[in-house]
Amino acid sequence: MTQPRREVLEKLTPVLTKRWLSPDAWKIDVYERLDGYAALKKALDVHPDDLIQLVKDSGLRGRGGAGFPTGLKWSFIPQGDGKPHYLVVNADEGEPGTCKDLPLMTYDPHALVEGIIIASYAIRASRAFIYIRGEAVHAARRLRAAVKQAYAKGYLGTNILGSGFDLDLVVHSGAGAYICGEETALLDSLEGFRGQPRLRPPFPAIAGLYASPTVVNNVGTIASVPYIVLGGADWWKSMGTEKSTGPMIYSLSGRVVNPGQYECGLGITLRELIELAGGMKPGHELKFWTPGGSSTPLLTAEHIDTPMDFEGVAAQGSLLGTTAMQIFSDKDCPVYATWRWLEFYHHESCGKCTPCREGNYWMVRTYRRILSGEGTHADLDTLQDTADNIFGRSFCGLGDGAATPVMSTLKFFRQDYLDYIEGRTAPRLSAKALVGA
Ligand code: NAD
Ligand code: SF4
Repeated sequence: MTQPRREVLEKLTPVLTKRWLSPDAWKIDVYERLDGYAALKKALDVHPDDLIQLVKDSGLRGRGGAGFPTGLKWSFIPQGDGKPHYLVVNADEGEPGTCKDLPLMTYDPHALVEGIIIASYAIRASRAFIYIRGEAVHAARRLRAAVKQAYAKGYLGTNILGSGFDLDLVVHSGAGAYICGEETALLDSLEGFRGQPRLRPPFPAIAGLYASPTVVNNVGTIASVPYIVLGGADWWKSMGTEKSTGPMIYSLSGRVVNPGQYECGLGITLRELIELAGGMKPGHELKFWTPGGSSTPLLTAEHIDTPMDFEGVAAQGSLLGTTAMQIFSDKDCPVYATWRWLEFYHHESCGKCTPCREGNYWMVRTYRRILSGEGTHADLDTLQDTADNIFGRSFCGLGDGAATPVMSTLKFFRQDYLDYIEGRTAPRLSAKALVGA
């Protein structure tokens, strides 16, 4: 393992991660000793519109993957409309490789609870929900404990800290369906229906939960809010780039010495992040990587100096997504990796629209054939054609996400496919994989 150079170590900016290593930070007394709920006290003295303006001024963009400006989203909530407003936190983190919200909720749940109270006050919501994925049992337990403690201390409930503001917060566990991370499927699921995406527009800000104005924000987005309230917009903007402001939690997995979460200002490069993670594992050379989960177009070793911010990654033809960087080496097979992702998308497709439901079914069959040594040259054209017909023609982002690794690997690694088809690479799957295919 190589030690990161000092100038690279200095790029670490622990903000949202700063309490993760503090023992018992999930308990309210410890959280309060570590500045917890100070931002709420400050926020309740500020007019809600000024809070929205503060978040706009900070340049905070959604941390769930799309990077939509948070303050702008909050400002879409119509005021004086007589309808209830809701805040829904999307804690259904499920994008392959993504693991930033889970530790945040486990080690520092009050940061999220405090952010929820401030955000709800800003958008004038008196009910908020955390929709957490079903498998995250321990994190859900921590959140429920945090909510209970916050009620006991008067941070939740009626007349919070004597401000006249009321808020109830419910933690709702999903049932482990990836599609329920899509915001409108999540709302359907929360209402008790089968989780399937709704047509947008209208966006949730206009007609969301129970057809009322609803802000849906990611865990990391909302947990950033107390820091912005305490530190101010200029401090937040002192990290990151002009258009991608603030710190970001980058999750590195795969062929690095120390996989894990590294919080740095947006714009750090993959080369620097790999250095922070102790370098590539001995004997491994970078071959390809996901900038933000498997739904984002793959990049290769030649893109190692890409600035990891929304604009920098887009300039390379990909997306920042969830900053889940899965690092693959020359010992890894892009065809095999793509097949594994596709099995996931195929399994998780909700079945609502034909391109995704049928296309994934056929693509999985084709991959199984190629990987078991039964592929043909025509399969590559079929794969390209199927992916082209899924991408941009599906009802929601899951379809695009499934087609993405197929399109990327056909573009960068066609030779790896040909090696299976022409017999230079030994089959990775047995003929059993073709049963039912
Ligand atoms: P999107 O760009 O369509 O929308 C982003 C947000 O902005 C949404 O909340 C949406 O309601 C809002 N919005 C956009 N335009 C609006 C408008 N005109 N008026 C009001 N609100 C508007 O993105 P999306 O489809 O919601 O999400 C896609 C992203 O999700 C991808 O970038 C992907 O990286 C990410 N993703 C994350 C995970 C995860 O586990 N965190 C899983 C899968 C996908
Ligand atoms: Fe469902 Fe897939 Fe269509 Fe999305 S793209 S609506 S997940 S079938």
